[in-house]
Amino acid sequence: MTEKLRITEIFHSLQGEARTVGRPTVFVRLTGCPLRCGYCDTAYAFSGGMLFSIEEILTTVASWTPRYVCVTGGEPLAQKSCWPLLAALCDAGYEVSLETSGAIDVDGVDARVSKVLDFKTPGSGEVQRNLYSNVKQLLPHDQVKFVICNEDDYQWSRQCVSQYRLAEKVSDVLFSPSHATLEPAVLADWILRDRLPVRMQLQLHKYLWADAVGR
Ligand code: SF4
Repeated sequence: MTEKLRITEIFHSLQGEARTVGRPTVFVRLTGCPLRCGYCDTAYAFSGGMLFSIEEILTTVASWTPRYVCVTGGEPLAQKSCWPLLAALCDAGYEVSLETSGAIDVDGVDARVSKVLDFKTPGSGEVQRNLYSNVKQLLPHDQVKFVICNEDDYQWSRQCVSQYRLAEKVSDVLFSPSHATLEPAVLADWILRDRLPVRMQLQLHKYLWADAVGR
């Protein structure tokens, strides 16, 4: 294994969202992202970082003896060496998740990885980047996520869930209110009103630590 990856940070925290929310998790944050979502809270990962070999990442991750490892960014799949990194983490016995923007082809991602695939809403400013062919790559243990900024986003997301039959394809369809843009209770009321087969989530880490880096 000789691949090097540009890494912004590797840290131990509580998972802030998705199916393993609240679980102690090691995060491997890869540097770089080709998107510029209006609500992005990890712009510090767009550039900089340090080069790590896959062996060095594995050694750092192992120091926390975690059960869960989350590979995130930025957009981790913007680096080709992310594919072998994911496989190596699975081989090491971790339960691995991948947070990805939905703008890059996920073909070839190790089938043991639980993908958390974004659908970029119109309110993100990057809706045109969605690669809808990724839907056919989704596995039953995967999740899809919509960050919702307003009622137009909600209606757009609802249409996607129906059109792509997402609730039948993946374990969880996640609806998150865009932090500080949409009141969570408003989104909750829409979901209940329309009896949507989705899971609403709030980002736990924002309530615990605001937007602190490395938490
Ligand atoms: S895809 Fe993620 S990291 Fe990239 S700009 Fe959007 S929110 Fe930020």
